[in-house]
Amino acid sequence: MSIHRSGIGMTSQRTRARMISRLRDQNIQDEVVLAAMNSALRHLFVEEAIASRAYDDVALPINFGQTISSPFIVARMSELLRAGSDLGKVLEIGTGCGYQTTILAQFVDEVYSVERIGSLLSRTRSRLRESRLNNVRLKHADGLHGLPEAAPFDGIIMTCATMHLPSALLSQLAIGGRMVYPKGSQEQYLCVIERNIQGYKETILDEVKFVPILSGIVKN
Ligand code: SAH
Repeated sequence: MSIHRSGIGMTSQRTRARMISRLRDQNIQDEVVLAAMNSALRHLFVEEAIASRAYDDVALPINFGQTISSPFIVARMSELLRAGSDLGKVLEIGTGCGYQTTILAQFVDEVYSVERIGSLLSRTRSRLRESRLNNVRLKHADGLHGLPEAAPFDGIIMTCATMHLPSALLSQLAIGGRMVYPKGSQEQYLCVIERNIQGYKETILDEVKFVPILSGIVKN
């Protein structure tokens, strides 16, 4: 797959370099995040028909009514989650096409990612297998329950929006850990929750637009 697609001008290293300089203009400052996004081949995460738009600053369709988040959103959420240091264990809810997962894998020891749509996950599973990321575990599951068997997590990132955070997720966050997620339905804001020994502290940030979190899993 990558052999005949890697030569396309629109998907070259130069196109990625332009995306990185745009992210800098948008005030993304974390060099680790920028380096991860400079190396990941984002055009391989979308359908070939729209690959030429992969590096534009937009969310794009990835089938099953879902979307790959825009480069800015991926960078912003990664920067907020990292908060300046690499992380041990992270849970991602909403694997989708696996682009955010791939970025996380560059600065997280172990990434656990759950997705509710079975067919979307199988496609992503083979894509990630090709990129030989050996610190990523994918699971077909309902992220509303978190992933108790691998908890606690130093970071949790949710790529679908919710009005109320499930208590399962809050309890699976390690003390000293941080969670980044979009809060709301019609109107949504990026939120960061930090857990310390006293409890949880929430900070509300930028207005965003994500698909909603849905309960239950879809087999095919
Ligand atoms: N980071 C992904 C975003 C995909 S969109 C990407 O860049 O491709 C959000 C994803 O969350 C969708 O794939 C959707 O199916 C998934 N999702 C929604 N509710 C979920 C739930 N309860 N558990 C797990 N995944 C969920």
